[in-house]
Amino acid sequence: LTDDMDLAVTPAPRASFDSEGATRRLCDFFSVASLEAFGGFTRAEVGALGAILSYLEITQISQLPLLTAPIRESGDETVRIDAATRRNLELTQSMSGGREGSLVATIDHTVTAAGARLLERRLGAPLCATGPIAERQDAVADFLANSLLLEDTRTALRAAPDMERALSRLALDRGGPRDLTALRDGLRAAGDLAQNLGKSDLSALMQSAIKSLTGHDDLSGLLDRALNASPPLLARDGGFIAEGYDSELDEARKLRDQGRGVIAGLQSQYAELAEITALKIKHNNVLGYFIETPATHANRMMAAPLSETFIHRQTTANAVRFTTVELSDLESRILNAGAHALDIEMRHFRDLRAQVLDAAPAINAAARALAEVDLSAALADLARARDWTRPTVDTSRDLEIQGGRHPVVEHAMQRKDGTPFVANDCALMQDTAPIWVLTGPNMAGKSTFLRQNALIALLAQMGSFVPAKSARIGMVSQIFSRVGASDDLARGRSTFMVEMVETAAILNQADDRALVILDEIGRGTATFDGLSIAWATLEHLQAKNKCRALFATHYRELTTLAEATEGLANATVAVREHEGDIVFLHAVRPGSADRSYGVQVGKLAGLPGSVVARAEVILEKLEDSSDGTTSTASLLDDLPLFEAVQAPAPKPAKPSAVEEKLQDLLLDEMSPRDALNALYDLKTLLASKA
Ligand code: ATP
Repeated sequence: LTDDMDLAVTPAPRASFDSEGATRRLCDFFSVASLEAFGGFTRAEVGALGAILSYLEITQISQLPLLTAPIRESGDETVRIDAATRRNLELTQSMSGGREGSLVATIDHTVTAAGARLLERRLGAPLCATGPIAERQDAVADFLANSLLLEDTRTALRAAPDMERALSRLALDRGGPRDLTALRDGLRAAGDLAQNLGKSDLSALMQSAIKSLTGHDDLSGLLDRALNASPPLLARDGGFIAEGYDSELDEARKLRDQGRGVIAGLQSQYAELAEITALKIKHNNVLGYFIETPATHANRMMAAPLSETFIHRQTTANAVRFTTVELSDLESRILNAGAHALDIEMRHFRDLRAQVLDAAPAINAAARALAEVDLSAALADLARARDWTRPTVDTSRDLEIQGGRHPVVEHAMQRKDGTPFVANDCALMQDTAPIWVLTGPNMAGKSTFLRQNALIALLAQMGSFVPAKSARIGMVSQIFSRVGASDDLARGRSTFMVEMVETAAILNQADDRALVILDEIGRGTATFDGLSIAWATLEHLQAKNKCRALFATHYRELTTLAEATEGLANATVAVREHEGDIVFLHAVRPGSADRSYGVQVGKLAGLPGSVVARAEVILEKLEDSSDGTTSTASLLDDLPLFEAVQAPAPKPAKPSAVEEKLQDLLLDEMSPRDALNALYDLKTLLASKA
């Protein structure tokens, strides 16, 4: 698992998993007498919770992140999708590694960071309950039905800051005044949004979002009064508390600022006294405030009577610097007032932070509601832009999709050159054929078809609309997707080994609500071994797992199995042959492919002409024979290979005299004696040839 996720692992000591100790730690942390307060947990769960807490305590020492009380999520509530399937379906990362080209990158229309995070989480955990799925779909439908509301909502959301992030920074004591203003602005946006949403008649999920978005007036009012419009990044820079919030602070600031005014007065007074118009009072971090005159005045300044007022501090190349008793006094008064003001501001910062953290559950709920609204609106925007429809998710075990499309491939094709994607139907029906064996040439679109159906099921169960004309998804509990012989050298397993380990995982785990996508399983080994494994795998899926499956293969033998076996059906991706080349139609139809067109695809890909020609010869020979081995042996007769390629396929030789004679014999009209004579004749003829 850790390999799949590419994570570093730190083993935790056994003791930290001890459920007794864990219970104590958790009770102390959440200040409750018993964990019953959070619902029932098994000993293993308590142990795991305790280990997490102790890990945080060790690594975060003084500052624990904001932890909310544990909630028990039953595994049955979400579709199980393992790491290999996630990778294979390119949910959040494309095969090449980046986000670009993944499902999430293609369908993310959210306008807030929290909305985008929610989308990613939902893609990883679609629901297994029809009610909550329908609620989410209702929310999407709310926005689809009211495009004005959709636009207004998205405009409002764009301006809403990321409250979750701000809150967690504050909780970790890494936050500053800008996190407080983010919360102020976020809560205000939440209130405004709730008011606007409240004007429409919306479904249950949006109603409960509205509830979470309202009721923060006290806190947002407080933050409004307390904070300036655009405060500094760090609290210790000061200047973030608004004027009028605290009279003591206003007083200290006045004193500090007045001091600055007094200094300006003092400068003109001293300039007059010394009769030096170029005399200035300046400030730096080493000397603090000081009086500076050009160096030419040095002697006069340092002699009586001026030296009685001006105390020499420093001589530089061009200037001399002085202070006076009055200036130092003033300076300490300004400094004191400034420090005092900062103290007060810091106190307010801590106080506001504490109030915000007290309200953390409510703020988090508002943040979650904003994300929920954002996601629902985003999915509506997506459905509108890409012509997606609302699927039905029911408790049957069918998967019936009409006019389905692959969301990522379709979008990529549209952006590239506008070629239309060919929509395809899929019907894995419990009572007739829940498993389809899909054959068809390379490049025809088998993998695309396989994945699009898994993605449509996944999108439907996460509450989204789907890229299809219509879709009816009988609840899927697990999704498995595997591609034969995909390289995994990084993890030090041979390709075939990986393929088998993954196939084993599916056959051992898939239940009767699983949706299994197998793409050319068995291709990573010798033909007959591969075929046998693929064959047995199909039988197991049908008889033992009893799940829905799409099985793409180049083994045409499997189409025979599908024809003969109840519960299996054949489908193929159509191509047209045109003057020796193939034209991909990308249309999935019942039945099986008559050939695999691998050589033609190789030709399209630019294999040298001689290789293509030679491959055609070999293919023909192989296909002529029902027994692969003798035919391979006969291929060796064509050696040397390249001559055989250059020469057109050899014409059949003229029949020999013996053969001609044999041909002419009319066996049914011969007596045994005639036959024996004919045999002698043949023997003689053969001897005369030799
Ligand atoms: P192979 O057997 O070699 O793995 P395949 O049959 O699995 O090939 P895909 O990889 O699914 O083929 O598709 C090949 C290409 O065909 C895709 O990259 C896509 O551009 C195009 N394609 C696939 N399906 C469709 C479709 N329904 N409409 C239009 N183009 C499609």
